[in-house]
Amino acid sequence: MSEPEIAIVGSGPSGFFAAEALLKSDAGVRVDMFDRLPTPYGLVRSGVAPDHQQIKQVVKVFDALATNPKFAFFGNIDIGRDIPLAGLRNRYDAVILAYGASAGTPLPIPGSDLPQSITATDFVGWYNGHPDFAGLEPRFDHECAVVVGHGNVGIDVARILLSDHARLAKTDIADHALEALRESRVRRVHLVGRRGPAQASFTTAELRELLGLPGVRVVIDQDAMQLNEEEQAYLDLPVNAAIKRNVSVMADAIAREAHGEDAKELHLDFLASPMEIEGTDRVRSVRFARNRLEGPADNRKAVPGAEHFAISAGLAISSIGFRGKPLGNAPFDERRGIIPNVAGRVTGEANGSMPLYVAGWIKRGATGVIGTNRADAMETVRTLLSDFREGRWPVKPGRPRTPALLSGSRIDFMDWKRIDAAECLSGREAGRPRRKIVSVAAMLDVARRGEGAVLPSQPVG
Ligand code: NAP
Repeated sequence: MSEPEIAIVGSGPSGFFAAEALLKSDAGVRVDMFDRLPTPYGLVRSGVAPDHQQIKQVVKVFDALATNPKFAFFGNIDIGRDIPLAGLRNRYDAVILAYGASAGTPLPIPGSDLPQSITATDFVGWYNGHPDFAGLEPRFDHECAVVVGHGNVGIDVARILLSDHARLAKTDIADHALEALRESRVRRVHLVGRRGPAQASFTTAELRELLGLPGVRVVIDQDAMQLNEEEQAYLDLPVNAAIKRNVSVMADAIAREAHGEDAKELHLDFLASPMEIEGTDRVRSVRFARNRLEGPADNRKAVPGAEHFAISAGLAISSIGFRGKPLGNAPFDERRGIIPNVAGRVTGEANGSMPLYVAGWIKRGATGVIGTNRADAMETVRTLLSDFREGRWPVKPGRPRTPALLSGSRIDFMDWKRIDAAECLSGREAGRPRRKIVSVAAMLDVARRGEGAVLPSQPVG
């Protein structure tokens, strides 16, 4: 019997962790990984903030894996456009979808379609040099920007907007973002949440970093920090230690002195729901309703009251989560924005279909940190291999070679390494970890021209 061949769609952390679990298993499988971009690593490249280089070190694990002779990377191949999902399923013995949750959630309020009202997904993609968002053109010509959503992405966005330019110039932020932020007039960022300090979904390390940003005065609504007895008792439960740490990091920030006259300001605002983005030609202000919290301490709901207030701003960024997108005729849960599954095996397919698998954000929604995807992918691979052993997907006889399925211009891992080397070389010359190439055409060009290829001249910090 020939060895089972598995296709993985998506080369982000969940895709690579799934490949790792498959290749480490005793099932003797081959793994082909597909990505619609010529560059691998998904959110590690285009989601992790440029000033968080340490987190990006995980790619060393992925690079080591890519040297396995039973692994192949097919970059610049769009499953759905270049190969239909059905074609992939016909060709491979099993398919794991690990293509993430790439759709941002616009604020569900009037005015959210105005120019300069953007989603964090687009903004993060823009500053990280994702080719899809290179043309975004956010404007930093107003002294205030509003970011809605109290999660870690909101923190990343606020930090990038408030960071000293010299600090950003040492990172791998996209050249176009570095250039645009050099001219930024933004001095004040309002990071607004609809619930209270004890309900924010920040992780403590990220919160501490934001509240300690040099040159930034932190302004926190002290009324919202007052906890009643029930709330204090809830925080004192051992299971809520992380929330308690967050609240104490916020209290420490209130107690600190301002950094100086020219300091920028971060306003951490609570209990406010966006009601309308106001403006005619572009964002001029964001109007909020003042909320109160109702319900038990472990399930507080935000209830908007009659009091409204507006924040004058030139940029409104919605950071209220991500959704997955459907692919081909795979089942899709519209409400949750995921592919429905049990332990990674897709549910809701027509009777008699070969099983299909999912891993990462398209499996569970946009939650967790990069490492969370390892356990998640291992669960999927356990399900897949147990299905194999039970004969749910027999190995197919007489398959065509994969390149025969491909119509686009394929990038293999060595091609990517040439792009990588060119970006790092150009970055080194500018005192930065890398200078990202942001157009697919330029990536393909560099991949073909070789390691010493010089990037097109772009302005740097
Ligand atoms: P998130 O943690 O789910 O936060 C989303 C925020 O949006 C919540 O504060 C939520 O408030 C709010 N929200 C949702 N709908 C809203 C609405 N209609 N109006 C107002 N507010 C609304 O999502 P995320 O920040 O996008 O992060 C996604 C995942 O990536 C998280 O697991 C995060 O930890 C991870 N991540 C990690 C890092 C890192 O480790 N450095 C960096 C970035 C992202 P409610 O709570 O009231 O619903």
